Amino acid sequence: MVADLHLHTFFSDGTYSPEELAGHAAAQALSAVALTDHDSVEGCPRMAAACAARGIEFIPGAELTAELNGREFHILGYWMDVRSPLLQERLTGFQAARRQRIVEMVERLNRRGVALRAEQVFELSNCSAPGRPHVARALVAAGCCSSYDDAFDRYLKKGRPGWVPKAAMPAAPTIELIHAAGGVAVLAHPGLYRADEMIPTLAAAGLDGLECWHTRHSVTSSESYARVAERLGLVPTGGSDCHGMAKGEPLIGRIRLPYDRVTALKSRCPASAVAA
Ligand code: AMP
Ligand code: FE
Ligand code: FE
Ligand code: ZN
Repeated sequence: MVADLHLHTFFSDGTYSPEELAGHAAAQALSAVALTDHDSVEGCPRMAAACAARGIEFIPGAELTAELNGREFHILGYWMDVRSPLLQERLTGFQAARRQRIVEMVERLNRRGVALRAEQVFELSNCSAPGRPHVARALVAAGCCSSYDDAFDRYLKKGRPGWVPKAAMPAAPTIELIHAAGGVAVLAHPGLYRADEMIPTLAAAGLDGLECWHTRHSVTSSESYARVAERLGLVPTGGSDCHGMAKGEPLIGRIRLPYDRVTALKSRCPASAVAA
């Protein structure tokens, strides 16, 4: 039995519907999957139903953006109560900040002579948690860029003319929020930050797991993160970070996490701790 604990739908910057994603999960013979849209749990009810229809265990989740020492980290929350009023209130705030950031990014692009309107991005994204990938797609659709990668390379990567820093909650309160909503917190794709020295700080703040296996980690770095997880008492997890066709090809199925890691992670849920 294997799992994929990092997947996106069109409720954030993925391209698949929950039903399409569940179909691919079944085709890949996954036993359990987590939906981890950026700053949104809106796809969870549909994904839960689509997974149930295919006999796949569904784990509700979200990928939150956190800040530590001025750097951005993505923290995955699993098994949170998606109806938690506190979680809903925070997600609504993050989503409003995302829309405001899009408006600012478009203003910056306009000052550089790029003819794009924020409305074009919002129409194309058609979701509550729009982000840079939607700006990239809108730039391509408007004929301003030749491809998604071209849009990031010229305008949207950190430091480029259209880039606006993302306001993020500090890491410790982000982990607390996930716990308060009944979930467990996992640091996403540590290999993408070049900030391994901050992992112990996050562990001390209550982090439960480390995403050791990810489609952008080499075998060597995955194994090295598994040793870090072991040393710090974190559950080693993994996920493909599939965004549907957004990254040119669907990544679902590339990471096949042994199911015992899911069990280990679940046992760290605050509710399980109370029950034990
Ligand atoms: P945002 O949350 O709006 O800052 O957008 C971050 C998302 O953009 C990530 O989750 C990726 O899906 C995507 N992304 C970030 N950097 C790049 C890049 N250089 N090329 C393509 N996609 C990227
Ligand atoms: Fe993304
Ligand atoms: Fe991420
Ligand atoms: Zn992701």
